[in-house]
Amino acid sequence: MSLAYLSYRPSRWLVGVSALLALPAAIADERVQVVTSFSILADMVENVGGEHVEVTSLVAADGDAHVYSPSPGDARSLANADLVVFNGLLFEGWMERLISASDYSGALVTATDGIELLSFAAHDEHGHDDHEDHADHDHGNEDPHAWQDMQQAEVYIANIRDGLITADADNADAYRANAEQYLQEMATADAEIRALIDEIPASTSVITGHDSFGYFSSAYGVNFLSPVGLSTEADPSGASMAALVDVIAQENVQALFHENMTNQSIITQLAEETGLPIAGTLYADALTAEGEASTYLGMMRHNARVLHEALAKPGHEKPGHDDHQRDHDDHDHSEHNH
Ligand SMILES: [Zn+2]
Repeated sequence: MSLAYLSYRPSRWLVGVSALLALPAAIADERVQVVTSFSILADMVENVGGEHVEVTSLVAADGDAHVYSPSPGDARSLANADLVVFNGLLFEGWMERLISASDYSGALVTATDGIELLSFAAHDEHGHDDHEDHADHDHGNEDPHAWQDMQQAEVYIANIRDGLITADADNADAYRANAEQYLQEMATADAEIRALIDEIPASTSVITGHDSFGYFSSAYGVNFLSPVGLSTEADPSGASMAALVDVIAQENVQALFHENMTNQSIITQLAEETGLPIAGTLYADALTAEGEASTYLGMMRHNARVLHEALAKPGHEKPGHDDHQRDHDDHDHSEHNH
């Protein structure tokens, strides 16, 4: 196949990197330049935009968007963008400051526009009763982590599709078709996740690095506790750590999980204090650079599978159980020790 053929008729199936590199520069430059605040949005835009977009994520894989500091290069990326996509709900407050500082005036998508908001207080209905010590004064009461519920994430996809159509109306049909295809893949993954989490007893609680799984809990189940609030900007206080240890003694907490983008030492410390096992890593606010969790769908499937492996079939010993120092536990966990 010749370059000349490609140059006037780029085929839809030519989506591989090598195919794109083979395109003449004039064609590559016509791709819509999209800047996203973080990696999960970048993957969504790549799925809806397909070969018509070139996506730059300001916060890279495994990065923590809560505490990111934009660089001068990020301002230049915005200056060259045709479309900017960010989460909103003060997930990445620096992004709104960067947009106004850079005089960006192009198409803008707030991915959470139109979602069903889950308030911080609503978490209490799911067993999070330790939050009064670490109410998050710099942030609203609205949980920004809505991508953790795939049905809320459908709103993200509709917003991204509409933003791409605004920025590049010529390819509107492609964006609509890609979005429809991706929504079907999301529905399949959503059903798989529901089936896995349904096998975990409803009373089960786990602990993660920060309150990133409220939407997951609301949509699928499992109670999530954490030593800090909705953002990672503040370290946990001694009082909030002590309060959490008390909650662990009272609730059916089965395991701790690291998050891929937050400081793991807090969870490690809690494991040492409580004797509970660290049952794996959950992908909270960022994808990984490679592997299963390098896509949004893969990340959601990974989290459900890791939770299922650790928490389904209560009363059975979990692999690796003996590796943890449960003898040091000074709380009554006899119900877990069969
Ligand atoms: Zn977060």
